[in-house]
Amino acid sequence: MEDKIISFLAFDGKVNIKCISSTNLVEEARKIHDLSPVTTAALGRLLTMGSLMGSNLKEENDKITLQIKSNGPIDTMIVVSDKNGDVRGYIKNPSIDLPLKSNGKLDVGTAVGKEGMLYIIRDIGLKEPYVGLTPLVSGEIAEDFTEYFAKSEQVPTAIALGVLVDKNGVKSAGGYIVQLMPDATEEDISILEKNLSQIPPISKMLENNMTLEDIAGMITGDGMLFMVGEDLFPKYKCDCQKSRIENGLISLGAKEIQDIIDTDGKAEVECKFCKKKYLFNKEDLENIKTKCK
Ligand code: ZN
Repeated sequence: MEDKIISFLAFDGKVNIKCISSTNLVEEARKIHDLSPVTTAALGRLLTMGSLMGSNLKEENDKITLQIKSNGPIDTMIVVSDKNGDVRGYIKNPSIDLPLKSNGKLDVGTAVGKEGMLYIIRDIGLKEPYVGLTPLVSGEIAEDFTEYFAKSEQVPTAIALGVLVDKNGVKSAGGYIVQLMPDATEEDISILEKNLSQIPPISKMLENNMTLEDIAGMITGDGMLFMVGEDLFPKYKCDCQKSRIENGLISLGAKEIQDIIDTDGKAEVECKFCKKKYLFNKEDLENIKTKCK
């Protein structure tokens, strides 16, 4: 089944809900980066969040970047998304292996690390991108974003992100984000809190073939839900080009480029998001050298 994002309004427009199934795009990331189970879960959760947040962007060239830099063995993860919810991701240490937690779950919090920062960078065509940041709470990612929305954006938010993975790959992945509008009442909130505390984990619901409509219905209860906007079908997608990789080489400086010419006579540069390899021969490098400052 195709990955999908659906947006809903509930409680007479006082509650915003977005649900995503992201099994395929997380599996694609697992294959590209050769991820271990725990890093599949960690990067998969961040990709799922990136896709959800990207889908809020308005313009074709708008971009959102989510970055986590922390003291855990993963060190750094970066996810970039656009208005279609298409995402690409990078992880510094993809092959981390950790014992399961006592409840049998993958230990994402330890792999990510609890002492670190979450950066949210919105590039919406202004001169400077808008940068938000917050310290991590647990490294479990959904909690960290919940904190970000509460503190930095003052929007009460509930977030679930889940990736179910075994040795053969991703069995299910997805998430949801529930946000309260300022006019939500105490009664609305207590109904939501009760429902959210009782529903199964998102990855389990998806594994059991529940649709996103079913899941949104579980969150809100009966009869108070309608869909808004068009469904999106997010994918793992990289838009790298040789010219952009070339800019990276230019930034190394003329001396470094001359060193490469003298030692190897060529350079092979890999895109960190999709692992596509770009080859630069001696002539390319001489040309690049002339563009260095
Ligand atoms: Zn690429």
